[in-house]
Amino acid sequence: MPTIVQKFGGTSVADAERIHRAARRAILAKSAGNDVVLVVSAMGHTTDHLVDLARQVARKPSKREMDMLLATGEQVSIALVAMAIQEAGHSAISLTGAQAGMLTDSSHTLARIKSIDTSRLRGYLAEGKIAIVAGFQGVDPSFNITTLGRGGSDTTAVALAAALKAETCEIYTDVDGIYTTDPRLVPQARKLDRISYDEMLEMASLGAGVMHGRSIELGMKYGVPIHVRSSFTDMPGTMIMNATPDMESISVRGATLKRDITRITLLGVPNRPGIVAGIFEEVARRGIFVDDIFQNAAAATEATLGFTVTHDDLDEVRAAAADLAKKFAITQQQVEPGLARVSVIGVGMRSHRGVAATMFQALARASVNVENITTSEIVISVLVRDSEAERALQVVHAAFGLGG
Ligand code: ASP
Ligand code: MG
Repeated sequence: MPTIVQKFGGTSVADAERIHRAARRAILAKSAGNDVVLVVSAMGHTTDHLVDLARQVARKPSKREMDMLLATGEQVSIALVAMAIQEAGHSAISLTGAQAGMLTDSSHTLARIKSIDTSRLRGYLAEGKIAIVAGFQGVDPSFNITTLGRGGSDTTAVALAAALKAETCEIYTDVDGIYTTDPRLVPQARKLDRISYDEMLEMASLGAGVMHGRSIELGMKYGVPIHVRSSFTDMPGTMIMNATPDMESISVRGATLKRDITRITLLGVPNRPGIVAGIFEEVARRGIFVDDIFQNAAAATEATLGFTVTHDDLDEVRAAAADLAKKFAITQQQVEPGLARVSVIGVGMRSHRGVAATMFQALARASVNVENITTSEIVISVLVRDSEAERALQVVHAAFGLGG
């Protein structure tokens, strides 16, 4: 029997009525002759509320206990979804991550799946049951409950689909698919029928909030087609899949905006082996994640080194920059918050010319100043002032004819 994995996000199980709706979808797939595994998130904003609660109790709650707490959200929804399916006269069983064989490493709050023992799950499916698995959670080799990072239920779903060799992994959510860009910022944004894993991976890391990045990586690695669609309609959504040759016929598939970027510029950095390594070692030691790095050596003995971060604690970033300047005998440091990154993404860039020119012309016509440029094989990104970011996104989106 073919297997289908259906994942329902928090909004899709936010109340009793929606839980029944999710149950009906599962029953429909089961009645059509599939083995059905559901993966569900915590109801509505449950996880946010739990995080909030923890902060009221402790300034820095231990990560192990955070996992213990956050994993409870999904346990509520799996039981309720199983009850709803049973209420409709079908056979169902709920399973925590551990019961579903989801073994992870021990990095609490950001655990990675190591292996999945699907034997118990397969047994229930063979008995004709619909299995409902708690998303976002697993267990480490010492039986500690772990979680996969916020939004991690997508990853649970795709990983299970891979392990069970499912036909597809359906992601039911509150939007009807993946858009060319965020429709809240650009009303002309259009829903895509298909997008390649590579493009989706870039879109996710560059600011498109729809899917957990790790889930796309897994989908790509194991070739699981991922269907992102609305839980409120029967309209097909967007297929995330391997690139097909015809996907390269257009140069740009989508555009993204990532805000709250801070640029740190270090002027007069001694131009000697080991300095740059020392600087980034220090930055990493402070738990600050670096996005882009740029360097130019204006004089033989001194270089200008810059990098961008999305760290939410600006005071911490300022302190880090000041310490770096002191430690490495750097003449001057600048910390500039309030920047944003606008990117265009498309596998078609590999075979099209003039993509960068089109982007820069559109920005120039709109008088948007480009603060920095970074490129990779299928991405061109510009750093702009946050106050100009939405306009920049709109003109770039239009310049590539992405609007509907
Ligand atoms: N409930 C978790 C969260 O809100 C996991 C998920 O929804 O995917 O992050
Ligand atoms: Mg999500």
